[in-house]
Amino acid sequence: MTLDQVPVTAITGVGGETANRLGRLGIQSVQDLLHHYPRRYEDWTQIRPIARLRIGEEAVIHAELVWIKVERSPRRRIALAKALLRDSSGEMLAVWFGQSYLATSLKEGTHYYFRGSAGFDRSAGLKQLMNPAFEAEPRVLPIYPETAGLSSKQLRSIIQRALSRLEQTENLPAENVATYGLMSHHEAMQRIHTPPTVESILPARRRLAFEELFFFSLQMQLTKQELAQATAPVLQLGDDELRAFTAALPFQLTDAQRRAAWEIIQDLGRGQPMNRLVEGDVGSGKTVVAAFAAYVAAKAGYQTIWMAPTEILAAQHYQALTGLLGPFGVKVGIWTGSQKAAGQKDGDTVPEVVIGTQALLSGQLEFARLGLVIVDEQHRFGVDQRAQLKRYAEEITPHFLSMTATPIPRTLALALYGDLDVSIIDQRPADRKPIKTKVVAPANRVQSYEFLRKEIMAGRQAFVVCPLIEETENNGNSAPYSLFDDLEKKTAIAEYERLKGEIFPDLRIGLVHGRLKPKEKRAVMEQFARHDLDILVSTAVIEVGIDIPNATVMMIEGAERFGLAQLHQLRGRVGRGEHQSYCLLFTSGWSEKIATRLEEMELTDNGFKLAEADLRLRGPGDFIGTNQSGFPDFKMASLMDMELIEAARRAASQVITDKSLVGYCRDFLEARQSVSRQHHLE
Ligand code: ADP
Ligand code: MG
Repeated sequence: MTLDQVPVTAITGVGGETANRLGRLGIQSVQDLLHHYPRRYEDWTQIRPIARLRIGEEAVIHAELVWIKVERSPRRRIALAKALLRDSSGEMLAVWFGQSYLATSLKEGTHYYFRGSAGFDRSAGLKQLMNPAFEAEPRVLPIYPETAGLSSKQLRSIIQRALSRLEQTENLPAENVATYGLMSHHEAMQRIHTPPTVESILPARRRLAFEELFFFSLQMQLTKQELAQATAPVLQLGDDELRAFTAALPFQLTDAQRRAAWEIIQDLGRGQPMNRLVEGDVGSGKTVVAAFAAYVAAKAGYQTIWMAPTEILAAQHYQALTGLLGPFGVKVGIWTGSQKAAGQKDGDTVPEVVIGTQALLSGQLEFARLGLVIVDEQHRFGVDQRAQLKRYAEEITPHFLSMTATPIPRTLALALYGDLDVSIIDQRPADRKPIKTKVVAPANRVQSYEFLRKEIMAGRQAFVVCPLIEETENNGNSAPYSLFDDLEKKTAIAEYERLKGEIFPDLRIGLVHGRLKPKEKRAVMEQFARHDLDILVSTAVIEVGIDIPNATVMMIEGAERFGLAQLHQLRGRVGRGEHQSYCLLFTSGWSEKIATRLEEMELTDNGFKLAEADLRLRGPGDFIGTNQSGFPDFKMASLMDMELIEAARRAASQVITDKSLVGYCRDFLEARQSVSRQHHLE
């Protein structure tokens, strides 16, 4: 049994409840656990003497716990634990609010490492650490992405236990390991989760990044090879039939749309499977281009599968496509987890275009003549849909078209997707006005609400996006020092209550977030689309693709918690109609770095430029995973590191040409794919 087949419950101390919580992080197997990489590290090895501690600074001290006692705070009457700490340079206090139980776990007369930010207690005339975390040993501590009820600390201990199951097997050809000076897989995994020093993290990251890029590229190259030998249906129409489609549109296609459509039409007529990515900024009009392809397929007598990343989007595409294709007698159906193809039962014949979510991959549909597969927001899916869709079309290979709104810079696109054909839509419909974007200072919040009200009174609609669903998310039983950070977080549910109760009691406000049932979510979205709601409060679930041309205001709370590319996606939800639109960014934390980053949003509405800025401002040393930003889901690989990307691609193509290694890689890829399938929490 390989680790991807071992469930997390096999680890000592992991029961059903913990397994559920891990599931929320997309972790099912021991393998997933080991791939749950730290978001960042805390260095507890850099010790500061108490005497040199500056107020406001976060630092680690190594001190003796002289005494500890429990008190009630005078005003708020909550229990607090207070302690005196001493090192050779001096003394200071430590205070924990609401955590008096600490008093019993810490031993007087013992030395500990304490980490926290320093304040000053005037009555005692001593420096003071507020809610410091503590450790018995100085370590480099990995900090993991958390979820409700699972703190980084708990994850750390579970992952430590998982590490003991890691075998010494190497998953790259030995030759590559030597050529590129990589450490072994085993050692890299150990170091990433248990780094002896901060310096030792970098080579481990490099090794794991190489691995990711290598397999990504290998997958692409194998696919390319396979497709070169496969046969696809020839989907070809006469000029009149092609023109009929564009003539029926309520608008003129832009030149960029025309070019992309032309490239696709060429591919479809070739009898060899198309493998094309359409890359276009939000609002550039990708849907109609793909609809054109589906039209060609249908008219040529073939069926199309259209995959959307969420049910909300599937429902929206269903509507749009019914409108675009219906007049030509092309039947459109929908198939998601909660909605079967309209009027369809299992085993019925399937309409010419079927829109769906991941559920399509496991559906009991039968396609008589599947000719085209369209995947919207490609980066949201795993790379293996093609393999999973195979059983729908055994004899022939359907054409494959994917779309992404992630504006990957061209050089990067070539390095990453060099084995794919790419069409870039780098132009927006001419009637679009640029969206006015402003980072709003806290003092101007009231004015912003007044502004929003004015827009609503003029008949427009607004989005309010929050980073989290509710209070418990992300803080769970997290380390004591994060107690105060969390108070400032804007959560969708609380914000909804606040807007409804205090700010806009007279307006119609709706709420969507990822924990609603798909049906409920769809109902709210439909209300908003029908203009039965003025304001929609949501989490980032509305990030991709939603098209409500009447919405003109996008307010984003806690904007510093989103990547630039993601903010740009969110902003792209407005400015889709004729009206001037606005994007207002609020922050819950503030630093020079945050300011610089968010200012980019004010400066440019060009997604390609923002993507570059995002990559540049983060820098290669940043530990944020790429999944936040809409780039392909690499956990380790930095997209700044072009050299490594190219090296990995070279290594993969060497393996491809070495016949003896292809079989090995295929097996490995297959095993990997069953693991890497993404579990999206819609
Ligand atoms: P995206 O590329 O983000 O998926 P959509 O395909 O959803 O964008 O298109 C955004 C909006 O622009 C839709 O309402 C669509 O009908 C409209 N649209 C698309 N192409 C054009 C065009 N050439 N002129 C005017 N409006 C267009
Ligand atoms: Mg779209």
